Amino acid sequence: MRYKVLVVENNASSMRILKRVVGKAQLQVVSASSLYEAKHIFANSSPETFLCSIINYSLPDARQGEAIDFAIDSFIPVIVITSSMDDQIREHVLSKSVIDYIPKENAQVFEYLSVLLSRLKRNKNIGVLVLDSSRTSRNNMIELLRRHNFITYEATRSDEAMDLLEMHPDIKLVITDEVIADMSGVELVAKLRKSYEKDELSIVGLSSSRSSALLARFIKSGANDYLNKPFCHEEFFCRILQNVEHVEHIDAIRRAANLDYLTGLPNRRHFFSQVESRIKRGVKNKVLALIDLDHFKSVNDNYGHDCGDLVLKKVSKVLSSHFKRFHISRFGGEEFCVFLPDMDLDSAVELLDRFRQDLSEQEIKCGDQIITCSTSIGVTQQFNRTIESMLSVADEHLYVAKASGRNRVISD
Ligand code: GH3
Ligand code: MG
Ligand code: MG
Repeated sequence: MRYKVLVVENNASSMRILKRVVGKAQLQVVSASSLYEAKHIFANSSPETFLCSIINYSLPDARQGEAIDFAIDSFIPVIVITSSMDDQIREHVLSKSVIDYIPKENAQVFEYLSVLLSRLKRNKNIGVLVLDSSRTSRNNMIELLRRHNFITYEATRSDEAMDLLEMHPDIKLVITDEVIADMSGVELVAKLRKSYEKDELSIVGLSSSRSSALLARFIKSGANDYLNKPFCHEEFFCRILQNVEHVEHIDAIRRAANLDYLTGLPNRRHFFSQVESRIKRGVKNKVLALIDLDHFKSVNDNYGHDCGDLVLKKVSKVLSSHFKRFHISRFGGEEFCVFLPDMDLDSAVELLDRFRQDLSEQEIKCGDQIITCSTSIGVTQQFNRTIESMLSVADEHLYVAKASGRNRVISD
């Protein structure tokens, strides 16, 4: 879904810049030049479709931040912009539940706004779990996190935390107090680290004692960071964002290393490591299939390389939909591989033949051209110590499939 951002600004040149910033973040601008207009827009749309609002503190019909209150009451997170550098106004704004306060000092602040908008968009998919035995403290943090669009979860005990993490893989950050209902925060960190690495789940420990020994124990037990209570909102968000971004960066690196850039399927190396660990965990039977597109060179020659790429993406989609439960990979070029554990050869061949048939019936649109393509598939269940041994047998079968007319499955 493409989120909307409500921009309420009466200055025409500022509005032009804001529209550009919002558009650059791939968000849809809804603009109003007064509180009256903004109210009219809200009356005709649902708040969930808005990512946030950007509101000028002083508008002709709302001189003292009344538009901010209106947006907050309508459950839309607010970023306040102002042309005034007045300290009193700043304090007045920050006493309200706003995301941020941005004085229009120079062009750089619009750059900051642009970063903030993409962050708010990404936060919509990131879960944060808060553990604190005090309801007030928990509610306070949950409110702050929601203001920044995070998905929030809360718990008071370690077993609840483990269950939530198991159920919600979107949780990328845990914030824990120094003591929770059934153990200390330090013990909780150590427990979580048995199942979740530092790079996949960030943990921030909270401490009200100002004891540097406790903070060090948090870090030594596996926490990524800590925060002293009480904290100011800006400090809270800086720490939270830094730790969420750490997990995001590692995740991006991992994806780039493991997935094929064109199709998003696991690459050869990642496929091997997944399959090897699957075999180590124990499998009853194993089948491996090597899939190669037929006469793919002529697709490129006849329709161009871009259409060739589009066909590869479509093949990957059809492959993923047929083999959801299994391990698949783009091996390189126009070659794909599927590993089917716990499956007998006949059932595997049946599944693969259904895929072959389905793909050969697809009409792939590229511009105003319609492209069809077929595949040849070699399948084996012969395993001689390594996965490579299966590959070479599957490759021999594939060769036979090609030689005997293509668009077919050949197995042991
Ligand atoms: P066969 O039925 O014998 O497999 O014939 P083929 O044309 O599919 O096989 P060949 O190995 O001669 O050609 C494979 C072609 O795949 C050549 C190469 O340009 C194309 N190819 C490989 N990777 C990509 C890619 O990422 N994008 C596009 N568009 N083409 C690719
Ligand atoms: Mg080919
Ligand atoms: Mg090939």
